[in-house]
Amino acid sequence: MPLVAQVAVSGATIHFDKLYSYLVPQLLAARVYPGSMVLVPFGRGSKARMGVVLNVQQPAPDVPLKELYDVAPEQACLSPELLALVQELREHTFCTYYEAVKAVIPYGAQYRACVENGVPKLKKQLVRHTQWVYAQAQKLEKLTKKQQQAWEALARGPLGQDTLERMSISRDVLERLVQKGALHREMQDKPLELYRQYAEQPQMIQLSPEQQSVYDILAPCMERPDAKPALLYGVTGSGKTLVFIKLIERCLALGRQALVLVPEISLTPQMIRRLKAQFGQRVAVQHSALNHTERLLQWQQIQSGGADVVVGTRSAVFAPLEKLGLIIIDEEQEHTYQAENAPRYDAREIARRRAIRCGALLVLASATPSVESFYAAKQGRMQLVQLAHRYNDMPLPQVYMADMRTELAAGNATALSSFLKQELEKNLAVGQQSILLLNRRGYQTVAMCTSCGQVLKCASCSVPMVYHKATERLLCHYCGASHHPVPTVCPACGGKLKYTGFGTQRVEEQLAEALPNARILRMDADSTAHKNAHETLLRAFSNGEYDILLGTQMVAKGLDFERVTLVGVLGIDQMLFAQGYKAFEHVFSLVTQVVGRAGRAQQPGRAVIQTVDPHHPVLELAAKQDYPSFYEQEIAFRKLNLYPPFCVICTVGFCGKNEAGVLQAARAFAVFVQQETQRRNDVPLRLLGPAPMSIVMLKEQFRYKLTLKCRGDKAFRAMIRTALQQYDAGGWAAKASVTVDFHADADL
Ligand code: ADP
Ligand code: ZN
Repeated sequence: MPLVAQVAVSGATIHFDKLYSYLVPQLLAARVYPGSMVLVPFGRGSKARMGVVLNVQQPAPDVPLKELYDVAPEQACLSPELLALVQELREHTFCTYYEAVKAVIPYGAQYRACVENGVPKLKKQLVRHTQWVYAQAQKLEKLTKKQQQAWEALARGPLGQDTLERMSISRDVLERLVQKGALHREMQDKPLELYRQYAEQPQMIQLSPEQQSVYDILAPCMERPDAKPALLYGVTGSGKTLVFIKLIERCLALGRQALVLVPEISLTPQMIRRLKAQFGQRVAVQHSALNHTERLLQWQQIQSGGADVVVGTRSAVFAPLEKLGLIIIDEEQEHTYQAENAPRYDAREIARRRAIRCGALLVLASATPSVESFYAAKQGRMQLVQLAHRYNDMPLPQVYMADMRTELAAGNATALSSFLKQELEKNLAVGQQSILLLNRRGYQTVAMCTSCGQVLKCASCSVPMVYHKATERLLCHYCGASHHPVPTVCPACGGKLKYTGFGTQRVEEQLAEALPNARILRMDADSTAHKNAHETLLRAFSNGEYDILLGTQMVAKGLDFERVTLVGVLGIDQMLFAQGYKAFEHVFSLVTQVVGRAGRAQQPGRAVIQTVDPHHPVLELAAKQDYPSFYEQEIAFRKLNLYPPFCVICTVGFCGKNEAGVLQAARAFAVFVQQETQRRNDVPLRLLGPAPMSIVMLKEQFRYKLTLKCRGDKAFRAMIRTALQQYDAGGWAAKASVTVDFHADADL
């Protein structure tokens, strides 16, 4: 009896994303499983489409079915665990099956359709460069001089053609020896060694008593399949990484594998270095700055069981580890764990479900946990473990406020307060390093007309253009549009334009003027655009090649430099007055984290926060690094105003060319939601909007949103799915594309 495969095909819309049945041809029967990648004839013209098999079963009688075209090799098959992840992604993020498949396996491991001799076939997305590798087979009596040389070259083991050619041994010579039976050869992927520079130097780690007690609580949890996830709340510099390493060691000793997530690319080099030093070649890396080939090779290493520890950013959460025992999420409060494009998943959620399925221990770690996680811990849904002291028993840095209003009144119009300048000078004098945070790149941030008061905005986006001095351009940071030369008059009224505000480039200039002897390193999206820039720049700073590191938030978190004793926070006010219920949490976390970069080794640290509002309660708490008090204030506010964790906020976004059409579409969706909630009575809901998003125009597209305060449970998702299908069926998608997002920062 032939088998029938139920297949989710690529290119589906949410409306048509269902399973289609295909007959499995006899020839392919042994290779088609749930999780197999297949090529199928689709629609009237039987055009070839990619798909993934979700089920294989005996056929229902008498239904005429098409046959599969092709199936990918077995190693391209999704494991049952990855297949379960695909199903969950689809259910929770409202993407299609195939979008979910593309999220869980890297591009290079995917397949695509092609035609071979008129027959549709699957082809690997990425073809690796291969070469012959030669090895000794059998010693022969008579060899020419050249042949003898080749034989000897292979005495210590097989070598690739590349290497042999570099030793002046030609291909012809080698092939002759193969013919004679002296050598054998094998086609292999050309090796590509990543992170060769990181030496394996395992160290004996002696945990401090406080660290040890945390370890003693967490380590046994890896042997209890039902252990609750843990929240490791540890002040900056308390040595969370050392505890991670010890836990990983234990995890490997138990014969299981570990996954470590970090929030940003800028933090991966440091974590990779620490883990490679400890665990050597068994560490694999997955992050977005790897090219397709590098990423694929690392992925294959994981898939084939060649890696026990995986480290990476958000998407590494899908790493195909089969024996997961431990998942660590460092700086768990970071919004970068949420994907901004479909599928809009949250890596923490995925990790939580994987941990349950694999019986692994999940550890969320931070010096400033998200209010949601801390609440969950207080409610007993997570276990709370704490590191209250710095490893070296140094006090947390002493924090001073610099009032920028008094600075201005005293005639200082630069970005640098006199107090911070003086502290920087002190550090220079004793050869200590400083970090300055300014979360705005570019030179000047606003161009305003002196007669009509208008701010120069991007023609395609409702945001101000930013002046970049190095390239003499006005740039839109959202769509990349640029003006050159830089305008001097207002395009609306012809008045004179005045450029104000500070970006990192301008502050770099002012610093150089104020401290002519300082060696300044600027780190922002502009200075780190090329490959490995983060790593190179951070290493140079760490080696003492610079005195001051000035940068955007990429310098604020997680970095560990022993010579840094002073931190300056510039221009935090804008964030303090930003929209969104998480604005205060972001400021508190950013300030606490960056302040925590100072005084991590032998010398105590200090920090200066520049602000126009030195008595702002959030800044005052951040200055004291008093997370518990901040949490109490914040949770009271959230409860009173019904924000997470007391509800789930679902943002439904609408985006299209015609503003009126977008609004209409949003209203239509609101009606579908209201009808559905009335029809079912299990979906408590508050619906707000439609309202414009905080950036109402982006790349010539208008953007509106509905905000749903809800439970975010299964019933709610079923309701949204129905509304989406009605939206699709009603043809609204032509007016506005729709996105469903559960992220706190969905509208930023
Ligand atoms: P956190 O991530 O909690 O801010 P780190 O893990 O980066 O802190 O540790 C801070 C510094 O203290 C690092 O330089 C680290 O090497 C050092 N440190 C912490 N614990 C230990 C330990 N048990 N033994 C040696 N050094 C430690
Ligand atoms: Zn723009």
